[in-house]
Amino acid sequence: MSPVIPIHTDSGCSDAPVLRERGQREVFCGLTGIIWLHRKMQDAFFLVVGSRTCAHLVQSAAGVMIFAEPRFATAILDERDLAGLADAQDELDRVVQRLLERRPDIRLLFLVGSCPSEVIKLDLSRAAARLNQRFNPQVRVLNYSGSGIETTFTQGEDACLAALAPELPAAPAPAEPELLIVGTLADVVEDQFSRLLTAMGVKRFAFFPSRRSTSLPAVGPNTRLLLAQPFLGDTARALEARGAQRIPAPFPLGAEGSAAWLQAAGAALGLAPDVVSRAIAPARQRAEQALAPHRAALAGRRVFFFPDSQLELPLARFLARELGMALVEVGTPYLHRQHLAEELAWLPAGTALSEGQDVEKQLDRCRAARPDLVVCGLGLANPLEAEGMTTKWSIELVFTPIQGFEQAADLAGLFTRPLHRRQLLAA
Ligand code: SF4
Repeated sequence: MSPVIPIHTDSGCSDAPVLRERGQREVFCGLTGIIWLHRKMQDAFFLVVGSRTCAHLVQSAAGVMIFAEPRFATAILDERDLAGLADAQDELDRVVQRLLERRPDIRLLFLVGSCPSEVIKLDLSRAAARLNQRFNPQVRVLNYSGSGIETTFTQGEDACLAALAPELPAAPAPAEPELLIVGTLADVVEDQFSRLLTAMGVKRFAFFPSRRSTSLPAVGPNTRLLLAQPFLGDTARALEARGAQRIPAPFPLGAEGSAAWLQAAGAALGLAPDVVSRAIAPARQRAEQALAPHRAALAGRRVFFFPDSQLELPLARFLARELGMALVEVGTPYLHRQHLAEELAWLPAGTALSEGQDVEKQLDRCRAARPDLVVCGLGLANPLEAEGMTTKWSIELVFTPIQGFEQAADLAGLFTRPLHRRQLLAA
């Protein structure tokens, strides 16, 4: 059985300096999150209140996915449609009325704000309150912003879940601590974690967001909150305001990360470490075996992360520790020191960290370093490929199930594939 590596074996990058940059950014807005959120929350609908650009973005982002029936749409409110704010509110009410008549399966409706000035002027929280009253109890109406001015793409999920957090029922008076796993996970990953938690002997656990809005998990002082995604600062704060206590842990990427994440959950619930180790040993061993060929392909290769999803630090930690890659620079749009404390401690000492972005300066650093692999957004990938660099689209890392033991090798494969493709092209 593989030993569980304790967190904080050394300080890694805990106190490392971080290069902070503020300049032009190359990153999607928070509307992108609708793509994975609508697949997870099966009775929810996301109505973007925005422009044709927003409609186009959501459609094209959705174009990379296969889905049965879309549960999102855009109410286009741009200058041509508007005479004044009162008209816009009426127009929005009409759109929602038509939508709910056509789709009686909707139980939760999100009005998602965007950038155009007409939308900013429109008070969506007031609209949500008004519509809530009108359609209660059939549909719950909430609002959040996915605007590119306020959010990068994974922050859309944070804004959505933070809006939903106050709606969770209150947990009854403290009994045993209950585990709440927070952050959208693919159903297959959620099922695997459920099996592992059950094998560990955990009886009371729930996931947020839940698949159905009619079965939202309860929250209260006995809730132990385990983040599954590193970009949920506002959501965690909203749940902590309801009494939940966050479990410090790294994120469940790779065999080591998944093991430590489950160990942290076990410790918070009073389980002995060896009970957890025994329960997760077969899955962990399978993951480690499946990672071995990827390690052979990736060890010693140099990787550079542009800031995009806030997943960069856990990904870099996985690539460095489990696959032997060298980290040239790890950029992240926002570094939440508390939520990422365990990840920082696990990064190799001396790793160059950057937060925010000044894209031209970062491109210069990347070109000077000539890394073997660049993880970046779609907008940067094509020009860098044209310059002979090998890239990985960071958005794929958000759209693909990558958490947990069974996905560890798939995650590694997302990095080996572009290098392999480049080798074939060069041969
Ligand atoms: Fe819409 Fe703003 Fe996103 Fe563009 S950046 S798609 S205008 S919300």
